[in-house]
Amino acid sequence: MLVVMNSHATPEQIEQVLAAVRRMNLTAHPMPGATRTAIGITGNISAVDPRSLEVLPGVLELIRVTKPYKLASREMHEADTFVRLPLTPAPSPPQGARGEGLVIGPGTFTVIAGPCSVENEDMILRTAEFLREQGVRLMRAGAFKPRSSPYSFQGLGQEGLDILARVREKTGVGVVTELMDTDNADAVEAAADVIQIGTRNMQNFSLLRRVSRASKPVLLKRGMSATLEEWLMAAEYVMAGGNYNVVLCERGVRTFSDHSRNTLDLSVIPPAKQLSHLPVLVDPSHGTGKRDYVPPMALAALAAGADGLLIEVHPDPDHALSDGAQSLNFGGFKKLLESLRRLAEPLGRTLN
Ligand code: PEP
Ligand code: MN
Repeated sequence: MLVVMNSHATPEQIEQVLAAVRRMNLTAHPMPGATRTAIGITGNISAVDPRSLEVLPGVLELIRVTKPYKLASREMHEADTFVRLPLTPAPSPPQGARGEGLVIGPGTFTVIAGPCSVENEDMILRTAEFLREQGVRLMRAGAFKPRSSPYSFQGLGQEGLDILARVREKTGVGVVTELMDTDNADAVEAAADVIQIGTRNMQNFSLLRRVSRASKPVLLKRGMSATLEEWLMAAEYVMAGGNYNVVLCERGVRTFSDHSRNTLDLSVIPPAKQLSHLPVLVDPSHGTGKRDYVPPMALAALAAGADGLLIEVHPDPDHALSDGAQSLNFGGFKKLLESLRRLAEPLGRTLN
């Protein structure tokens, strides 16, 4: 349910509506807009008599939201969401680097790059310095790795987070890193600028509830067999708990096709953007599984309307401890960035 207030509604009138919603044991989500405030209501609203809210002073109208996901839907929140990161500037900002903050959302195109895993401090520092030179402001790297085999490299855990924090401090490059379980939530939240929820955890509801209380934005990967509705319902879990800073990330789904690791579903971008106001990124590395296929799909993602990319880049991909086959080396990434910049211009997008 969405309560739309009059454009001249007073703060007291808004507060009256919020109090009425609380008395119904429902949750109110005030959404101040350019001209008027709307108040989203979540919870079990089946027993609510809309007239009791409709008659309150300052209320313009009540709109029933038909989709099962409410806060994530355009029905409740028409305008695009921009996720803002208060990144501190690098000690010596490279040419082309903009001011302090970074905005993820339409108009810009955010490139997040880095190795699959944190392997050691040297490779993380080298990667962050390289990214900074290229004007890339966010580095991805996992300290906790969800590996299909228990015998594969599992990540450095807390030591990996410490490395990320030190390198972030030195370079000013922000950190995107995965949270796999609630036990490590405090540590990951402290080290990360953006908390990644991996494909295997998209429906881990206790984890989603935990990050719904986090102070950092959440990058929510699509489950490898999740429908768009299931993906948006997962986003709804995060938003229902009060964390509205959710960035969706398409990373490929399971199909009968076996020519690539997954089938990168770029066709999900237009409907995701139509049904939801949240930014959508694309991960062509996990989406294809082979480094040769990454640049064409990255460019296609930009053309298809994605708001950015999550790309695996490694200083020495052939000796990577995880996902080397799908990782670009520095030269390959630099070349891709040049192509992305060229394509972004006619599309009216600015790389950040
Ligand atoms: C990753 O980003 O390294 C990762 C494990 O991704 P996914 O959850 O998409 O497999
Ligand atoms: Mn990986």
